[in-house]
Amino acid sequence: MPRASKPKDIYRHSDKAIKHLKRAIPAMYQNFSHKLAGWDELNLIRVKEDVDQLFAEMDRVVRNEYVKIAREAKKDVDGDPVGINLIWLGLMLSAFSPVTNYQYPAEWRRKRDRTVESLMSSVGNPQLGRTLLRRSMTITLRQITQFCDIITDDARKTAYEQAGVKKVRWVTQQDAKVCSVCRSRSNHIYDLASVPPKHPNCRCYLIPV
Ligand SMILES: [Zn+2]
Repeated sequence: MPRASKPKDIYRHSDKAIKHLKRAIPAMYQNFSHKLAGWDELNLIRVKEDVDQLFAEMDRVVRNEYVKIAREAKKDVDGDPVGINLIWLGLMLSAFSPVTNYQYPAEWRRKRDRTVESLMSSVGNPQLGRTLLRRSMTITLRQITQFCDIITDDARKTAYEQAGVKKVRWVTQQDAKVCSVCRSRSNHIYDLASVPPKHPNCRCYLIPV
């Protein structure tokens, strides 16, 4: 039988991961910035190889963090992280997200390719390169942190599905930050399979009925 959680606690694993990633990702970019001065215009393929490698490394770090969040979030519901692993995560991320209106890996590749393109234009000007790199970091971090909450919700939904839950109640954080759309949904009961999508950064959650 699913266990109840206190409202503020639902996203604590997500919060912890966000805090960690907001240090880890900038550190990876910082480390990467040393490559800028070594690039030259006759060898632009190096830029692509280096950026591809950075994004692959970040993706590994982030996915491991997502799995940690998801396992803890599922344990909050049923005490058992079974079924939550990198394969589960891959399936969740590959689905179109109605919260962000994109598919995680496709958007990640898009950001990577735009970073390659912009950095290629900065070769020979490491100062500009550093500015473009900071811009890249800001937008990748936004995607990364936004999905911490989405993954939390996905893990809870997986727990409900495993437990055979059919109906869920929409619960808001019950503070001044709750938007009018969410307030109007407060306490509504939905079929688990047809819960309306959340808006970005929404911290409402579902409890079994
Ligand atoms: Zn909300």
